[in-house]
Amino acid sequence: MSGMIVCKFGGSSVANAGQIEKVRRIVAADEKRRYVVVSAPGKDARDSQKVTDHLFNIATDGDHFRSRGKEISARESFDRVVGKFRTLVTDLAIDGDDIIEDLQSDLSSTISDKKRIDFFASRGEHFNAKVIARYFKAKGMNAKAMLPEDIGFLVSDRFGNAKVLPATHTNLQLSLSDDEISIIPGYYGMTLKGDIAVLSRGGSDLTGGEVAYAVDALRYENWTDTDGVYQVDPRIIPEASVIPELTYKEIRLLSSQGFNVFHFDAMLSCKNKSIPINIRNTDNPSAPGTMIVSSRKASETAVGIARMDDIAYVYIQKDMIGETIGFTKDLLDIFRDFSINTHHYPSGMDDIAVIVDQRDLNGKADALTNTIRKNLSPNFLDINYDLSLISPVGIGMKDTPGVLARAATALFNENINIEIVDQGPSQLSFNFGVYQRHADIGLKALFRALLKQ
Ligand code: ASP
Repeated sequence: MSGMIVCKFGGSSVANAGQIEKVRRIVAADEKRRYVVVSAPGKDARDSQKVTDHLFNIATDGDHFRSRGKEISARESFDRVVGKFRTLVTDLAIDGDDIIEDLQSDLSSTISDKKRIDFFASRGEHFNAKVIARYFKAKGMNAKAMLPEDIGFLVSDRFGNAKVLPATHTNLQLSLSDDEISIIPGYYGMTLKGDIAVLSRGGSDLTGGEVAYAVDALRYENWTDTDGVYQVDPRIIPEASVIPELTYKEIRLLSSQGFNVFHFDAMLSCKNKSIPINIRNTDNPSAPGTMIVSSRKASETAVGIARMDDIAYVYIQKDMIGETIGFTKDLLDIFRDFSINTHHYPSGMDDIAVIVDQRDLNGKADALTNTIRKNLSPNFLDINYDLSLISPVGIGMKDTPGVLARAATALFNENINIEIVDQGPSQLSFNFGVYQRHADIGLKALFRALLKQ
């Protein structure tokens, strides 16, 4: 089974017939591309909503879009989904009446409660895989839709955020073969009770990672709509270039801090077997993309700079914190009790700051601070909002003297005050917290100081 390539194509890569033809050419260009995981059709020029969102909208009778301030009725979503698949079938010139009939019947299902949403949400991937397999076949390729229900892609019954069960790997090994091109719908699986449950949003990446793990893939290609992982957000710094190679650890540090290239969890299964992940662009297949590997030799210091906005820090000062055993634990327990994820906690002798996503404090800030006051009696407590964390990352920074100094000088030259500084113990990244209004200028200054050749 080993030595084959798993390719996952995201929503924009399969949004219409023209895109699906690009996918076909990519798959046909390398006979090792035997496992093709597909998303539901994404947004395109004719519809600014993804098929998956329309499906959620049908299942919730219009609540999905209503809760986002958009008035699109369930009926309208139904028509758009069916219309989209009809257009696909027509434009690809395949015989797909049965597929459209099955789609309409599934979308009229009266299945109820939480199973309903997952069943509907899964239909985009389910029917897209069927359409794509039929198209590949019509073009003379030996392709077959391999549905999660047929190949034993088992998931937990946590509807809306199901987790892949370990038995899936053996099931995939037994049911998939290199003899044909398997077109596998991403994003959903079957529970042990036989219900359909979806993974978290963007979950087709996870399906691809699990398939790559199961078949011992040569590499996992993640085809999307950008040329790869950029050094910094190219919308802010257009001269940023694509990073050719990154380690799993580096992409983790970058992706945890605002790089939304792909679902991070998808990487874990590949990392465990050292399967390289290649981020590629369906619209520019000749570009080599970004390769994510176990180890690499760094010729640069920083490789990229992540940025995370909407950061708040809860600042606590109390005499003798440094000598109080268990203070930090008691403090973090309070955040846990409020279900607030804590990112970093830079500390001094008698003070500590807990860095959080400020959206997580919505509606909870008063109760949180009251509890901290009551349980820990600080001398001073305050929450600072509207910061950005700017975080240079790179294995080349470890043991290189002067990187922090260069970075701090770059911000000093722009007259930007550093509110927080925190170096990760691995020395592969550090975080500067600055007020968000300074973040663009700060990012540009750090780009010039650390990344620009
Ligand atoms: N179609 C699903 C979503 O929009 C899953 C995916 O595309 O990966 O979240």
